Amino acid sequence: MRRVFREGARRGAGAAGLSVAVTVETVGYKEDDAYGLWKNGELTVGTLGSFADRKFVHGTWLDFFETYIVPSVSPHIVYNAPVRSIDYSGDAVIVRTHDAKYTADAVIVTAPLPMIKNGTIAFVPALPRHKARAARRVVVWGGIKVFLEFSAKFYPTYTDFAIRPKRAGHRMYFDAAVRAEHGETYTGTLCRR
Ligand SMILES: Cc1cc2nc3c(=O)[nH]c(=O)nc-3n(C[C@H](O)[C@H](O)[C@H](O)COP(=O)(O)OP(=O)(O)OC[C@H]3O[C@@H](n4cnc5c(N)ncnc54)[C@H](O)[C@@H]3O)c2cc1C
Repeated sequence: MRRVFREGARRGAGAAGLSVAVTVETVGYKEDDAYGLWKNGELTVGTLGSFADRKFVHGTWLDFFETYIVPSVSPHIVYNAPVRSIDYSGDAVIVRTHDAKYTADAVIVTAPLPMIKNGTIAFVPALPRHKARAARRVVVWGGIKVFLEFSAKFYPTYTDFAIRPKRAGHRMYFDAAVRAEHGETYTGTLCRR
């Protein structure tokens, strides 16, 4: 079954000038898709059942951002400008890169948590102790996602790995192919450690 998500023109969003009509076609997995679980060196295969994840039919998250988000914000993006420090000791917040200084009423920091943990961005004053402690306690794995094309589908639609302890990592294989209906078969691999 295919579903088309339509969003936008919601009441309130327009008032803020942020309304944008979004038409993105996604497709879900089927309940009887094969589900594999690697555990203790053995692969058990059953059915996937109800599963909320969906695949983009035409494109990826990157295309979504390029289409719907980037046009409205691109004039304000500064590339190749890693933030070195954020000084919020005064009335205004001062953000410094290696060669520039920006002043703002407030700053929202969305850099990856490891950047906060390893002090890549210096905060003035230092972050409150409870925030620094919370950041240190969160485990963030490195990861990579690889898409491979095979001439035949020899694998379950979705395969999990029972990795213990959980903090040791995460790995899965999944069929990322919408075009499988046309005879092509792809799989995506996500490994984290
Ligand atoms: C291998 C892998 C596969 C994934 N697959 C999926 C998927 O299929 N579907 C899904 O929904 N999610 C997926 N995710 C999760 C998704 O990528 C993240 O949830 C999402 O990217 C987080 O967005 P973010 O903006 O918080 O952080 P990020 O996307 O990490 O963005 C942080 C930004 O901060 C910038 N930055 C870093 N340091 C500084 C600095 N000092 N100054 C200024 N900028 C800085 C970085 O350059 C980056 O652009 C995947 C993640 C991984 C690792």
